[in-house]
Amino acid sequence: HDALPPLAGLELARLDWRQDDSGESAPHSAAFDDVYFSRHDGRAETEHVFLAANRLPERFGAWREARPFVVGETGFGTGLNMLCAWACFDAHAPPDARLHLVSTEKYPLAREDLARALATWPDLGGRAAALLAQWPEPVAGVHRLWLDDRVTLDLHFGDTVERLRLLDGRVDAWFLDGFAPAKNPEMWRPELFTAMAERSRPGATFATFTCAGVVKRSLRAAGFVWRKVPGFGRKREMLAGEIPAPPLDGRRTATPWFTPPAPAAAERVAVIGAGIAGTATAAALARRGVTVTLIDREGPGAGASGNPQGALYVKLAAETNLQSRTYLAGLLHSRRWLEALDPARRLWSPCGVLQLATTEREARRQARFLAHHPLPARVVRAVSAAEASRLAEMAIEHGGLDYPLAGWVRPDALCERLAATPGVTLVRAEVTELIPGEAGWCLDLDAPAGRRRLEVDQVVIAAATGSDRFPQAAALPLQAVRGQVSRLRLPEDAPAPSRVVCAGGYVMPPLDGILTFGATFAPRETDEAVLEADHAANLAELARTLPSYAEALAGAGIDLAPERLEGRAAVRAASPDKSPYAGPVPDAEAWRTDYAPLAKDATRVPDLPGRHCSGLWINAAHGSRGLASAPLCAEVLASRICDEPLPLEVPLVDHLHPGRRLIRELIRGQ
Ligand code: SAM
Repeated sequence: HDALPPLAGLELARLDWRQDDSGESAPHSAAFDDVYFSRHDGRAETEHVFLAANRLPERFGAWREARPFVVGETGFGTGLNMLCAWACFDAHAPPDARLHLVSTEKYPLAREDLARALATWPDLGGRAAALLAQWPEPVAGVHRLWLDDRVTLDLHFGDTVERLRLLDGRVDAWFLDGFAPAKNPEMWRPELFTAMAERSRPGATFATFTCAGVVKRSLRAAGFVWRKVPGFGRKREMLAGEIPAPPLDGRRTATPWFTPPAPAAAERVAVIGAGIAGTATAAALARRGVTVTLIDREGPGAGASGNPQGALYVKLAAETNLQSRTYLAGLLHSRRWLEALDPARRLWSPCGVLQLATTEREARRQARFLAHHPLPARVVRAVSAAEASRLAEMAIEHGGLDYPLAGWVRPDALCERLAATPGVTLVRAEVTELIPGEAGWCLDLDAPAGRRRLEVDQVVIAAATGSDRFPQAAALPLQAVRGQVSRLRLPEDAPAPSRVVCAGGYVMPPLDGILTFGATFAPRETDEAVLEADHAANLAELARTLPSYAEALAGAGIDLAPERLEGRAAVRAASPDKSPYAGPVPDAEAWRTDYAPLAKDATRVPDLPGRHCSGLWINAAHGSRGLASAPLCAEVLASRICDEPLPLEVPLVDHLHPGRRLIRELIRGQ
């Protein structure tokens, strides 16, 4: 996976504000010595060059597909083009049509610069506000923004060519922007056009302001047909065209088993399991117009997602690996997703998370992590014990890492809220059998009111440890990990942390007067009874992580006897490699046959796409980090099922593929 560039923060755009033709101040790039747009007629230019030349008004007006229309852009800049495309969509598209915008950016604007640039266009004000409210941290990767109910924007931060190669998705219309080829030859290299071609739908169009020879040659070499059309204002000519027959996309040539299944009907989908993974998947599908039946024996948040309070945090490996990258993407995603879902913050708090280094070894690990990952301080930074104490508003003995964007969530209330998404019907029942039908699935349900059968087009299994009891998913091993949290009612004036503080365990800021800390981690144990011994273990961990806090509690006369604590125990599910399963359920027998040659020689890769249990998906194995991983995995699944671009890079999408272990086992068997 060396194709994945380092996990790092990005350099921000360096702007100066110069007078344009009409004497007004417009954003200008100091690094490229070129303008983002002319303040005088920038909008008219966008409408002429990118919207009209791609025939967007008429194509939006005629859009009748269930999937969204996808616009791809090179160089997001101030977002003017994309906001204009959104306005054009609203003006022309039918009410149930959807729009998906994908744009790359190597040098994101600082939020203040973005706000200043967009203030130029008062009638884009509401749209600009939606963009500004979700404007991501400058971290390389994919950042998904929900502009409104119908419009999604994926910002692919990083170099355009690199990012388009990592894009899992296909585009209907391209805005070929980016500074002039003479000022930015690095971006306009031939590989750009090859990457665009490989990410194009048949007949995808493009438009660009330039007529440079190198652009024409590269477009043609990549399979695009171009013509000169009148340019905007003083520019006599520009280019527009299309790609009639793009090279086949979606095929994973080196790892054919990960080739995604072809899109199929998805009007009715059943989701089994109403924990965070299931409810987030149900909500993500319903938002796309899918009719969802969410099935759970007990109701939303009955299992490990039913705690009243849970920490939203990740533990990243010192050396970059795919798992850490997925979790960091998940944390940033959850944060934006919660903000969009619940701006009033009734279900969560972005109070920040401190990860203390309570041992020398952990301190060295954290130092290695920071040396390998130059990330923005708003995402993660080193703090001393004194700083940690100031941030958490209590005495802390150790320094560590601070994640200012992380915090805590009310998982039980969140599951309830997601299960109530319009378009989702909650059914209390046990799924006893999953029967493949002619063109979909039949589910046998055992409900309090009796047995019944449900027919749907597709099914998502999100049943934690109950997931592999379906024979179709039996080859995806899941381990049970019991966890118990302890809860202590605090008197009003008792000391309490104002940030989540974790080391071996965690302690959270009190919620409704109750201090929650924990949790135990007992692999292969499935008992859900609350145990005194586990309370004792949680207390011991609290005393190790925060000795003076434990003393302060005792000093305030608070009874810390394990037998007086309350708590909740539940069983989480983990995969053998500790990454979630999010993707299509492989037909394990077919894989063992098709890829048997790998057992003899791992370099003999059969040219066969992976066969799957058609229309069957899984979102499970989130262990104790589901708040960071499950919402992103839900988007991955919903995007795939609804034939949209994915919110993760190809290697990370494949890292989540439930079949990964089958291949590893075959190769190890050689
Ligand atoms: N489309 C933009 C708008 O609507 O405001 C204007 C784009 S501006 C003229 C060009 C953008 O391309 C800049 O934001 C610049 O940082 C970005 N860019 C330049 N080279 C790039 C590269 N190699 N990869 C990604 N982005 C790049």
